[in-house]
Amino acid sequence: MLAAKKLFSYRPYWAKRFGIAPVLPMSRAEMDQLGWDSCDIIIVTGDAYVDHPSFGMALVGRLLESQGFRVGIIAQPDFQSKTAFMELGKPNLFFGITAGNMDSMINRYTSDRKIRTDDSYTPHGVGGKRPDRSVIVYSQRIREAYKNVAVIIGGIEASLRRIAHYDYWSDKVRRSILPDSKADLLVFGNAERAITEIAHRLANGETIDKLIDIRGTAFMNKGPLDNWTIIDSTNVDKLGRIENPPDPYAWNKDCRVDENTNKPVNQPDSGQVVKFVPNRNKTVIRLPPYDRVVADPILYAHTSRVFHMETNPGNARALMQRHDKRYIWLNPPPYPLATEELDKLYELPYTRKPHPSYKDAKLPAWEMIRFSISIMRGCFGGCTFCSITEHEGRIIQSRSEDSVIREIETIRDTVPGFTGNISDLGGPTANMYKLTCKSEKIEASCRRLSCVFPGICKNLITNHDPLIALYRRARKIKGIKRIFVASGLRYDLA
Ligand code: SF4
Repeated sequence: MLAAKKLFSYRPYWAKRFGIAPVLPMSRAEMDQLGWDSCDIIIVTGDAYVDHPSFGMALVGRLLESQGFRVGIIAQPDFQSKTAFMELGKPNLFFGITAGNMDSMINRYTSDRKIRTDDSYTPHGVGGKRPDRSVIVYSQRIREAYKNVAVIIGGIEASLRRIAHYDYWSDKVRRSILPDSKADLLVFGNAERAITEIAHRLANGETIDKLIDIRGTAFMNKGPLDNWTIIDSTNVDKLGRIENPPDPYAWNKDCRVDENTNKPVNQPDSGQVVKFVPNRNKTVIRLPPYDRVVADPILYAHTSRVFHMETNPGNARALMQRHDKRYIWLNPPPYPLATEELDKLYELPYTRKPHPSYKDAKLPAWEMIRFSISIMRGCFGGCTFCSITEHEGRIIQSRSEDSVIREIETIRDTVPGFTGNISDLGGPTANMYKLTCKSEKIEASCRRLSCVFPGICKNLITNHDPLIALYRRARKIKGIKRIFVASGLRYDLA
C-alpha cells in the first residue's frame, strides 16, 4: 500500500473563517466583497477562468480554498508588462503558474507550425491572448513585479518539460523549463498532493528553498543533496538500441509472481539487470547532462527510457540532470489519489460556469465539457506517442459510482442549457475505470512501462463490470436521456 498523507487531513489554514467564495476572485473589487485584504495564493493561468473541475486552475484553486487558503486567479493577463500580474497584490505564500490545460505552443500553433487564429480556452474563441511558452513569460513578469515572492510552476507545459526534452516547435532539444522560468519549484503530474503540502508548509513558516523533499516536485540545486547515493543511469539502461526489452522484474526478484500459484518466485536476473540498492528512497539516478543529450541522440534515447522507467510511484527513484553548473533534481512522482480523495476533490463547490466577468461570451472549451464528467485518471497503456502516462502516471485512479452519479444530478439541476445528454462519462481511457493490478505489492514493484504491451499482463484485472454498472445506473437517472463516451477507449481491453 502506497503511504501518503491524506489530502484532506491537514489542519485548515486560519483564513478558512472567510468561508467559501462564490467564485474565486479575479479583481480587487471581488476581494473587497469577500472581506480579504490579500490573497494567500495567486494562480496565474493562460486559460480563461472557468470554475469547473476540468479546468486546472479551478481544481487546484478550489482544493487550496478547501484547505483554508484565500486563492485569487489571474487569467490570461496582458503579458506585455508586469501591471496585470499585480492586479491582486502580492500573495502571502506563493504564485502558482500554469500555461493552462494545454501546452501553450500547441495552443498557439498548428501541427505544421502555422499560427492559430482561434483559442478554445478564451472568451469568443479568439487567439493571441497568451504568449508562446507562457510559463516562462508569466514567471518573468512576476519576477519583475515582485522581488521576494515564491514562484511555483505546474500544469502540463511545466510537467512535460521538466528535464531536457525534444521541442517540436524549434526542432531542438531544449533544456528543462526550470532554469528558463527561474521558478523556485516545479510540480509535475497531478499536483494536488504536492501543492497542498507546499501551501501548508509555507504557511507554517518554512521557506521555499527548504522544500526539497516533496514527491512530484523538481528544483534546481548546486549539486546532489546530502546523504543520497548516486547511481549512474547506465546502470539502469544500456546505451544504444534495445534488441530485447529489459526484464521488468529484474531489479527485485521478489516481485516476480507465479501466474498459477500467485506466489513470488525466484528467477535468475536476465537482460539489463539493475542491482538492488537497499535504500531506494535515498537513491538518485544521474542522467546524462543537458549538453550531452543535445549532442547525442543515443544519449537522448537512453535518458528518455530511464525517465520513463522511474515513473511508478511504488519504486521510482529521484533523478538528477546537470544543466550547465547546476542540476535539475526531480523527486519521485506523487502517490495516486484514493477514491475518497478523488470524490471529494471533484465535489468541491464549483459553480461549473465561466467567471461572471466574461458575461455571455462563448467559451468553446467550456461548451465542450460542461456536460461531461471525469470518472478516472491515469492510463497504463504507456504508448510512446502519448503524454498521459508521463503526466498522470499509469496507476488508475477512479471515482466511486455514487460520486459520479451525484455529479450527473448536479449538472442536471444546475447547469444552464442541459437537455438531458451527458456528453462524456470518461477520462484519459474510459474503459480503464477501476482496472488495476491484482496485487498492490506487485503493482508497487512493477517496472513495466505498460500493462497492455507487448500483451495484456496476466496480473491485470480487466473486469469491465464496474464500468458497465456505472453506465447503466447513470442512464436510469431521471431527466437523463443519453450518456455518451467521448473519451479514449482501448479495444484490446474491451
Ligand atoms: S498488471 Fe500492470 S502493474 Fe501489475 S504486474 Fe502487470 S504490468 Fe505490472
